[in-house]
Amino acid sequence: MAYDNENIFAKILRGEISCDKVYENDHALAFKDINPQAPVHILVIPKGPYVSYADFGQQASDAELAGFMRAVGEVAKQLGVTERGSRILSNQGEDGHQEVPHFHVHLFGGKDLGRMIKPIDK
Ligand code: AMP
Repeated sequence: MAYDNENIFAKILRGEISCDKVYENDHALAFKDINPQAPVHILVIPKGPYVSYADFGQQASDAELAGFMRAVGEVAKQLGVTERGSRILSNQGEDGHQEVPHFHVHLFGGKDLGRMIKPIDK
């Protein structure tokens, strides 16, 4: 899938749309999800044009990969969810219900998040 420069996170990165920023480094930006699903719900995105985690994992440089993971760790620490716990999640494609085609991880925390996903029907 080709990267779409007009996706909403690309517009946030270009400063065309505002966001509620919580952290930024050379390779990543973190901001509050506009429709939070938990008391802490942050999106962490790379600054480069990657569609998904698969794309990012295969195409990004070592510096981008490191900068992105450092950002996730810094955000969790900054928002105080390292002690009680949290969850990161990344949706990809149709089965994963990805809405925005710019790679991002959701960081959830601030409450008991329950089990990871629903068990499959047997
Ligand atoms: P998904 O692609 O399914 O992982 O979900 C995209 C997420 O982006 C959703 O949780 C939306 O609430 C969030 N979102 C969409 N537009 C914005 C925006 N302008 N600012 C912050 N979060 C957004």
